[in-house]
Amino acid sequence: MSAVENKVETLETLEERKDFIVCKKGNKDKKIKCDAESIAGAMSQRACVYCGARVVLNPITDAYHLIHGPIGCASYTWDLRGSLTSGEETFRTSFSTDLRENNIIFGGEQKLAGAIDEIVEQYNAKLIFIYSTCVVGVIGDDLKAVAKAAETKYGIRVIPVESSGFIGSKSAGYKAGCNALLEIMDRDGYKDKVDGINFLGDFNLAGEMWIIQSYLRNMGVNLLAKITGDSSYENLRKATQAKMNIVQCAGSMNYLAENMKARYEIPYMKVSFFGIEDTVISLKSIAYATGNKEIIKKTIDFIN
Ligand code: SF4
Repeated sequence: MSAVENKVETLETLEERKDFIVCKKGNKDKKIKCDAESIAGAMSQRACVYCGARVVLNPITDAYHLIHGPIGCASYTWDLRGSLTSGEETFRTSFSTDLRENNIIFGGEQKLAGAIDEIVEQYNAKLIFIYSTCVVGVIGDDLKAVAKAAETKYGIRVIPVESSGFIGSKSAGYKAGCNALLEIMDRDGYKDKVDGINFLGDFNLAGEMWIIQSYLRNMGVNLLAKITGDSSYENLRKATQAKMNIVQCAGSMNYLAENMKARYEIPYMKVSFFGIEDTVISLKSIAYATGNKEIIKKTIDFIN
């Protein structure tokens, strides 16, 4: 294919994607398509609520992700976006209660409690997420009660994620994931403030979290919590100490940023690290927002 043909094909592809990424000011009816309702089970559509929750939580490197549902739900999202880690690899293994017909008729809570027992007995788990899937929403297993009993029994954090696939769009899943993060922050977050910021809405799919982290280091800015690419349970506990949040993927993290502002008085600003121009603007905005002259000078020197 010639360079010209290749260019034409690329432009046509972007034309097809336009509705997913472009929202014009003044056109109130228009929503970006990535926020469109999904049909549970239709993989050609936007993914389900449970998948959205897993997008947000899966990159937490030392968390155990226990999917309460048929094995298909776990395999559908297993290692779903290949986030990179500088620490543990725990998150790359999917755990499932593998619900069968019998459990669906008589209830699956016992099987869920047994699966938590197995994880705790075989691994040194500190944090387990238990995800609700479509069928669990239908039969009504009480994930909160099972999680509470497991926490009392083992003294670890077990967090239910309300993510039955049919209850909304993938965006509702982002919200369910953010609620799970807020539960960690509310219950285990450190109280004292320190100089530093959190980075919300990057999932370290290709190591980009590390690149931004190195930029911030050059600027003299302390990155506290990485939410959630290459993060850990301990790292997330520091999120409440930050003086500012920067938000890249607003679609998945606006809800969390708003809640952190209301609960912990952490203001937030939107940033973009797509391309040189956006990156330069974002780094300068972060530097000026700190109000620290030394950081501003270092940032200008670094950019130049
Ligand atoms: S939660 Fe429902 S829609 Fe999502 S993968 Fe499982 S069965 Fe499919």
